[in-house]
Amino acid sequence: MKKKFTKKDLKDFKKIVLKRKEEVLDDLRHISDDTLRKSQKEASGDISGYTYHMADVATDNYDREFSLGLASNERKTIYELDDALKRIEDGTFGICDDCKGTITKIRLKAVPSARLCIKCQQKREKK
Ligand SMILES: [Zn+2]
Repeated sequence: MKKKFTKKDLKDFKKIVLKRKEEVLDDLRHISDDTLRKSQKEASGDISGYTYHMADVATDNYDREFSLGLASNERKTIYELDDALKRIEDGTFGICDDCKGTITKIRLKAVPSARLCIKCQQKREKK
């Protein structure tokens, strides 16, 4: 049972996906700004007064790894959103990967990059 979305539905979904992507890109910009600023501060080599304790270094490293981890999450989201856009274009958007049924509009509006219907998602999570 395949119920196709109307052109208007797809247009709406496209808008949601693009808006989401814009938000994530914005977040990503903030994260890289932050990381960049920290690197520049360190690169300026201000070690006068020997404030360069091991503890500080460890915290800085942790911060940066955290930011980078976050950034890779955001990148993954962007990749998934791009994928959703592709599927909107080729007409496979909203079709469940597992049962080939139609994913509900409500679910797609909340998670536009969803590739599984709620039933199949729950089945996978149980495994
Ligand atoms: Zn399914």
